[in-house]
Amino acid sequence: MARVLVLGAGFGGIAAATRLRSLLDPSDEVVLVDRSTDFVMGLHKTWEVVGAHPLEEGRRPLAALRGRGIDVRQASVEAIEPAARRVRLDGAWVDADAIVVALGAETVPQVVPGLAQHGVNVWDRANAGRARDALAALERGRLLVGVFGTPYACPPGPFELALLARDALAARGAQVSVEVFGPMPIALPVLGPAESAKVEALLDAAGIPFHRGQPATSVGAGVVHLADGRDLAFDLLLAVPPHRVPRVLVDAGLAPAGGWVGVDPRTLATPFAGVYAVGDATAITLAHGLPLPKAGLFAEAEGHAVAERIAAEFAGREPTATFDGTGTCFAETGGGRAVQIDARFYADPPAADVQGPSEGAMAGKAAFEADRLAAWFGR
Ligand SMILES: Cc1cc2nc3c(=O)[nH]c(=O)nc-3n(C[C@H](O)[C@H](O)[C@H](O)COP(=O)(O)OP(=O)(O)OC[C@H]3O[C@@H](n4cnc5c(N)ncnc54)[C@H](O)[C@@H]3O)c2cc1C
Repeated sequence: MARVLVLGAGFGGIAAATRLRSLLDPSDEVVLVDRSTDFVMGLHKTWEVVGAHPLEEGRRPLAALRGRGIDVRQASVEAIEPAARRVRLDGAWVDADAIVVALGAETVPQVVPGLAQHGVNVWDRANAGRARDALAALERGRLLVGVFGTPYACPPGPFELALLARDALAARGAQVSVEVFGPMPIALPVLGPAESAKVEALLDAAGIPFHRGQPATSVGAGVVHLADGRDLAFDLLLAVPPHRVPRVLVDAGLAPAGGWVGVDPRTLATPFAGVYAVGDATAITLAHGLPLPKAGLFAEAEGHAVAERIAAEFAGREPTATFDGTGTCFAETGGGRAVQIDARFYADPPAADVQGPSEGAMAGKAAFEADRLAAWFGR
């Protein structure tokens, strides 16, 4: 009997655990650990904020995965000893034959002076209701969607939020302008200038200025201070704070302080035998020098590849499954439409294609969530 510990039950962890369960012998244990009791996709956070669909609609209890033979444990991952393949969960050490690290990225608004007091961290689902109420109460003035650091999860997400918020404000006749700022030189650097320009054109058409290349240094009451000395005033600041790797991964020696977990781009192996890492906690540098975007679809595909490799190793076979850096994601643009982004990020140079907006891509986005919830949780 062997045991796999999957740390984190987000996109990557659930994908790895469910795939492992379908591949391993029933006598092998698949233990899935998370401090949370449920799963919600990031896209549902945005829907909640703009009043499109309640968060509750997309929430699923992790306990439901027990019915599939996965040992779901609600616990904090307090320490990891990767060389010994053991993990401390709520004070108790647990040994494993293989470990999948899928702890995601944390948002850290506290590193930007004034951000936590004056802005709403919309990348944390705990704040989605507060952001929704603040947006719904806004009658006039200026809404700022601000990116406070890169990399951040879901690169198109802030632009999608701005477009959807603009739609919601216009629908009820609010006299509110919407603007976006961030340190990026173009909206989506990883896609390259031509494809990024398609997204920027959508912002232009919606009358949403994008203040590019503008790192923020601090936030005051109703004002963001930029590094170049200029200020951006706001009545509501919906913020994407800087992200960082969970501290436990730095303490474990899996990630450098201020960095991310280094993995082989195709196998997701860490330098420690039997220890893999997937998803937002990792950094994979592409041929053009930019990192693979932090996105659920990649965390999922990585989780699948790792599960296949572990199953092969347990069966005494040479593992052959790899992650190929391809994927399709959808970003809503308002009016019931979305763009579809097809990417081949491991190509040299990395390739991406932004198509739409279209109603078909919007249907693709809805299916992206519905298909996974059905496959993992049965509904
Ligand atoms: C607003 C928004 C919209 C998005 N839209 C999309 C989209 O449309 N498509 C897409 O592909 N991606 C999207 N994303 C990005 C996507 O959500 C992330 O890339 C994805 O969740 C990363 O998966 P992960 O498994 O690496 O981490 P996560 O899904 O973040 O999971 C990490 C898990 O680890 C747990 N954890 C962390 N530390 C500990 C600890 N010490 N002890 C116990 N548990 C711990 C957390 O509770 C969490 O459940 C969006 C993100 C946001 C914020």
